[in-house]
Amino acid sequence: MTKYDVIIVGAGPAGLKCAQMLSNSALDVLVLEKDEVPGNKVCAGGITRPGISLLQLPDNVIEHKVVTVGFHSRHFHNLKNLSEPVMFTVNRKELGKWQLSLLKDTRVQFRNNARVTDIKNDSVIINKDEEIGFRYLVGADGVNSIVRRHLKLPIEKVLASVQYQIPVNNPESKIEMFLDAKYFHSWYAWVFPHRDTLAVGACADARYLTGKKLKDNFHRWLKKEGFDISNAKYESFPIGYDYRGYRFGNIFLAGEAAGLASGLTGEGIYQSVLSGQQIAMTILDKAGEKDYMQEATKYNHYQHKILNLSIRMGGLRSLLHDMIVLALKNKQLNRKITNNFSKKTDKPGE
Ligand SMILES: Cc1cc2nc3c(=O)[nH]c(=O)nc-3n(C[C@H](O)[C@H](O)[C@H](O)COP(=O)(O)OP(=O)(O)OC[C@H]3O[C@@H](n4cnc5c(N)ncnc54)[C@H](O)[C@@H]3O)c2cc1C
Repeated sequence: MTKYDVIIVGAGPAGLKCAQMLSNSALDVLVLEKDEVPGNKVCAGGITRPGISLLQLPDNVIEHKVVTVGFHSRHFHNLKNLSEPVMFTVNRKELGKWQLSLLKDTRVQFRNNARVTDIKNDSVIINKDEEIGFRYLVGADGVNSIVRRHLKLPIEKVLASVQYQIPVNNPESKIEMFLDAKYFHSWYAWVFPHRDTLAVGACADARYLTGKKLKDNFHRWLKKEGFDISNAKYESFPIGYDYRGYRFGNIFLAGEAAGLASGLTGEGIYQSVLSGQQIAMTILDKAGEKDYMQEATKYNHYQHKILNLSIRMGGLRSLLHDMIVLALKNKQLNRKITNNFSKKTDKPGE
């Protein structure tokens, strides 16, 4: 049986970042991806400033550098042109292609069409017939992680999400967030611009709004807002935010396999990259240098505090949404809130 020092299951942002960080080491690393190419992921493709900075994404991978941000509640609207971009959008396949290109000519081996179908004590089975051994196993295989299932970790906190990719010529560089408790409970609908589409979606925790109810509400809301979905592609996928740790002996969980997405916004790329980086540093015994995992959980903690407040507010939830949108009209509060969601970094985009 062939054996690797590290097997990474999944070539999403988490797995590929982990592989990149290990690529300069003497370790034998294998990345296994079930699909033909990385990035085949339902996503709105929005990345905040710290995420861009961490990834060091080149300009050609970024589709939009967004300076116009709109927040809407039932009674108030706030559209602001900011002095610099606070959000960036990417095409997930392009992101995956670029992250993979960083592994070229390194010791890291990448295998596509390689689905992990079973996990044993120190080996994985690929496509039901090939066994490969590992010293460390990294589960970076997303919300439906087989590695997480192997660890018998439950996943109770999940957002249901629905999205359309609506074809649009040269969409404006503007993101919009719609907080409307009538349709989305404590969650929201988003509009993110891409090269020739708008990603228009919504999410909600299925324990508060079932997937079916969310879908129905989303369609009613799309109609109300006048979106034409006749040529649009419909997508739906869960988002996991039930974080219960990342190290389990010689097995690690990264990104959404670890439940590291935000339960409020559904954002997960930044936290996935942070966790992939932390796991690589732990394997390389350099974990003490900086605690990236703490950064990810702290980031989510702030958002989960807002989420819990909103859930607890019951019938007054719309009032909270109104207050958020009103607060964003104030320049100083706007800067503070924006900085909490998309912290200013020295050189975003470089
Ligand atoms: C509708 C929607 C909109 C979103 N919008 C945003 C957004 O705007 N910004 C943001 O930051 N986040 C967003 N997210 C969340 C974001 O997509 C995820 O948090 C992020 O992709 C997680 O990265 P990851 O590397 O952990 O996992 P993934 O990106 O899910 O990658 C996992 C990889 O593992 C592979 N894999 C799975 N199982 C196996 C197996 N058994 N064997 C081998 N390979 C396997 C998959 O094919 C995949 O390539 C959104 C999610 C949804 C559903």
